[in-house]
Amino acid sequence: MNDLASRSIQYLPGVGPQRADMLGKELGITTLNDLLYYFPYKHIDRSRLYYIHEMDGNMPYIQLKGKILSYETIGAGRKHRTVALFSDGTGTIELVWFQGMRNIDQRYPKGREYIVFGKPTLFNGKFNIAHPDIDPADKLDLSTIGLRPCYNTTDRMKKHGITSGLIEKLVGNLFDILKTPVPETFPAWFVEEHNLMPLDEALHCIHFPKNPEQLRNAEYRFKFEELFYIQLNILRYAKAKQQKSHGLRFQVVGQPFHDFYNTRLPFPLTGAQKRVIRELRADMNSGRQMNRLLQGDVGSGKTLVALMAMLIAIGNGYQTCIMAPTEILAEQHYATIRSFLGELPIRVELLTGSIKGKRRAPILSGLRDGSVHLLIATHAVLEDNVGFHALGLVVVDEQHRFGVAQRAKLWNKNDFLPHVLVMTATPIPRTLAMTLYGDLDVSVIDELPPGRKPIATEHRYDTQKGALYQFMRSQINEGRQVYIVYPLIKESEKMDLKNLEEGYQTICEVFPEYQVSMVHGKMKAAEKEAEMQRFVSGQTQIMVATTVIEVGVNVPNASVMVIQNAERFGLSQLHQLRGRVGRGAEQSYCILVTNFKLSDDSRKRIDIMTRTCDGFEIAEADLKLRGPGDLEGTQQSGIAFDLRIANLARDGQLLQHVREVAGGILEADPDENNPAYSLFWQRLKALRKTNVDWSSIS
Ligand code: ADP
Ligand code: MG
Repeated sequence: MNDLASRSIQYLPGVGPQRADMLGKELGITTLNDLLYYFPYKHIDRSRLYYIHEMDGNMPYIQLKGKILSYETIGAGRKHRTVALFSDGTGTIELVWFQGMRNIDQRYPKGREYIVFGKPTLFNGKFNIAHPDIDPADKLDLSTIGLRPCYNTTDRMKKHGITSGLIEKLVGNLFDILKTPVPETFPAWFVEEHNLMPLDEALHCIHFPKNPEQLRNAEYRFKFEELFYIQLNILRYAKAKQQKSHGLRFQVVGQPFHDFYNTRLPFPLTGAQKRVIRELRADMNSGRQMNRLLQGDVGSGKTLVALMAMLIAIGNGYQTCIMAPTEILAEQHYATIRSFLGELPIRVELLTGSIKGKRRAPILSGLRDGSVHLLIATHAVLEDNVGFHALGLVVVDEQHRFGVAQRAKLWNKNDFLPHVLVMTATPIPRTLAMTLYGDLDVSVIDELPPGRKPIATEHRYDTQKGALYQFMRSQINEGRQVYIVYPLIKESEKMDLKNLEEGYQTICEVFPEYQVSMVHGKMKAAEKEAEMQRFVSGQTQIMVATTVIEVGVNVPNASVMVIQNAERFGLSQLHQLRGRVGRGAEQSYCILVTNFKLSDDSRKRIDIMTRTCDGFEIAEADLKLRGPGDLEGTQQSGIAFDLRIANLARDGQLLQHVREVAGGILEADPDENNPAYSLFWQRLKALRKTNVDWSSIS
């Protein structure tokens, strides 16, 4: 890098100690380089003129050309203001000043032609622009102004006069004092090969583009660079890890798999299931440790795929374990797997916290001597006194309930690394998966078993309770069961609990002829399990719950999911909850009940839910609505993901492209000693020291 990174911002003309302090504290800008890379969040096009008659409710900053017809000063106190009526011949708009309006009518005399610049808002059915920028039309050459940058500032900065406009000036000053071009960070051949704007030009154009095309090209270069180095780093790390980790070789498919396939498979596998099983099979025979994320929407048949992979492990003489996040889920897996396997000579055991004493001892010794082939377990398996003879494959169901550290504890029960398959029903958009799990291979089951009826999803306002109860009653009368879910958000846990309990009371009163269960996070685990079990076994018809039922529970007879205050849930949560129904042969329903007043974002979420049942589409939409920082996957990974300019929701294609480019670089210079590539490795080294905690990506 150049010396810009070591020159303090304080000595830039226009800054000084106080502003330097503010820039550092509020924006982290301490050097000239920091300022240079403080990119505007948007630009305002000052080359285009709008007409008043084109205005609609949602306009950016615009400029109009016309004349002031009249002035009027009205209102008192905070509403005291001067209003000018402005016309461009296609309509009129009001210009409004709340401050500094003295002599305004003399500064901008009526009848003269002006260019007025500002953000129009709609007030009382009329458009107005408050505190517009006004220039005489004959003094302003629009073609030379081009696009003006807008920089984010904080309230504190604004109070001290550090506005977007001031930052614009400072960046201008910075370019004035730069005597030599900023040196390129990519090799020249690379810049040419990928049609990138050279760095020095791109820096100018990202701040002060002459036209939208220049801005696009500059943005492209920086997005390319940002994503490229992230990918280069991830791929390099993945390669190193691959070379280090020798994995067990499962050379045969084995008898248990064949027996199962030929005699027990209850239905034909879907195409996606077959493909994934082939991927797993190849991975486990590759000589390196498998680390694979299996994504599949709720109900896509992940359990069966996992079971078949586990049979391969057993066929190669190893033990295998599937970890579930709750006892209920573990029990369900146990029952499912037992019935799948039938009389096949495979010893399956269940290990949970409530299996104690006499029942526990033979399981533990069976694990140690290798006579237990397949273990289904909760966290209980992580206890120190649980040991294996030869654990060859670990399946983790519903990954986000297990931390990385916990998983590692399981690996350490062996002298060698077992293969790992992590299953999740919270689809992560491809772009995000590639960035977060660069070294995890990803398999996707993108096909549901045939004959599934999409869950009919409808939106109701909470004023329509009568019809809702009637519908629930008719479903229960047909023998179905119903979930009613209430939100539980930490900040107001008390209120939510009250909400839930009131809801429970109401339901008991409305449906005296039925049994009602209630489950929430404040209950003791055993209590919760027992209550859940009453619903699973059909003793109760209605389950009133918080999101604790979100993960994995399978009650095929439950066909209705009612979500109260649906506006308070995120998209992926809504999708997970909806996945609790639609598991049987009957038509299932999801009813999203909301308040009448909805924010734009809530409305969008509800619209997406009623439009599609496709988890991947929903995940993409979620990413667009919230940005990657808030997504569950990102938080889980604990990675400080701070993209300066690229946007994972919008730049998916570019990400795919640079990933290939980065892969090509690694292949072309595997030993990192080719001089034509040395700039890449230098830059990567410099970046590793700065922004992201790379070691957390895995
Ligand atoms: P999830 O991916 O949500 O864990 P499950 O593994 O619980 O899904 O499967 C959902 C249901 O679909 C189960 O009842 C399972 O037996 C059934 N199933 C799985 N694969 C198929 C298939 N190929 N054809 C028909 N039904 C299947
Ligand atoms: Mg499952």
